[in-house]
Amino acid sequence: MAEVIIKDVEKVYPGGFKAVKGINLDIHDSEFIVLVGPSGCGKSTTLRMVAGLEEISGGTVSIGDRVVNDVPPKDRDIAMVFQNYALYPHMSVYKNMAFGLKLRGMKKPDIDERVRWASSILGLDTLLERKPKALSGGQRQRVAVGRAIVRQPAAFLFDEPLSNLDAKLRVETRAELKRLHHKLQTTTIYVTHDQEEAMTLGDRVVVMSEGLIQQVDAPLTVYERPVNRFVAGFLGTPPMNFLSGALTSKNGGVFFEGEGVSLKLNEEQADNVASHIGQDVTLGLRPEGVYMHANEHANDEDRTAELEVNVIEPLGDTMDLFLDTSTGARLVARVKAEHLDLGTKVKMYVDPTKIHIFEPGEYGNNI
Ligand code: ATP
Repeated sequence: MAEVIIKDVEKVYPGGFKAVKGINLDIHDSEFIVLVGPSGCGKSTTLRMVAGLEEISGGTVSIGDRVVNDVPPKDRDIAMVFQNYALYPHMSVYKNMAFGLKLRGMKKPDIDERVRWASSILGLDTLLERKPKALSGGQRQRVAVGRAIVRQPAAFLFDEPLSNLDAKLRVETRAELKRLHHKLQTTTIYVTHDQEEAMTLGDRVVVMSEGLIQQVDAPLTVYERPVNRFVAGFLGTPPMNFLSGALTSKNGGVFFEGEGVSLKLNEEQADNVASHIGQDVTLGLRPEGVYMHANEHANDEDRTAELEVNVIEPLGDTMDLFLDTSTGARLVARVKAEHLDLGTKVKMYVDPTKIHIFEPGEYGNNI
């Protein structure tokens, strides 16, 4: 068990490209932390520096109470599972799991105990004599995890371990990893570009972009209280809607006005944005914050927008509506499924608690 502390860590690749620009992160003992962000944001590089597979250009990484910058990977007391978990094809499942322990000089009965312990946790008991080619993708992935857990390391590092599995298996294996962590309580750092994986697995989620950490928080906090527009737009499916406009004060309230929409903020928001009245802002609106049949939800003209239905994507009991404002701006709403014709004008009610107001720009702060 161990704490992992990343302090002012930088990575400059040969040639001068700065992939990680000075990040700080305290990963608590037993914590499951997920690094998430778009391709190229530096999450794998960060993980590989913790693993010792990439030299650290600046700052320090500590595992337990030891700075490991100059400690070789095999002596860092970590186990890593990659996307391309290469099992030894000529070895049985048992031998694949035992191999690393044998290399470390562990005695046979101890190895046996560890392998049987890991295989019972992972449900591999009946597959121990099989070769990897006689296993399904999901079973192979479990063996790769088994190889990591037999070592009983201080920390697990996962780099997109599920991305080679099909959608159904990915969800199942994700649940298994969560159960495993619950059981073993080993400090885990998990890298993914999949926001759903990040939200379901992480005790905390670290959102990265362009070599920097944007936000570190519990999944729901990151979703409900994103610090800036980047984080808000990265998490959520379909993504948050953004409209450009300005804040105005009228009829005793504060309104967002822009791109053909005028929406009254609630009192709490009005207080928060008081110093920004008259300024340009970006409105962020979650698709599930827009409801059909405005009058049934609230008789509130100030929070209603008339929008034209442009595309309908049925999803079963819900549907995504792609709606155009009078100036042609596009909004997506996730609503209860019902019959609707394209081109219809619908009155939509916007739930003010699902609104965020950001300063302008790609990384505009949540006001
Ligand atoms: P992905 O999800 O695509 O793997 P990532 O967030 O894990 O992305 P990294 O692999 O950490 O991103 O890469 C961060 C940046 O560093 C990218 O712009 C990448 O092109 C660059 N990079 C990675 N490895 C090297 C290298 N060996 N030499 C130079 N640049 C590199």
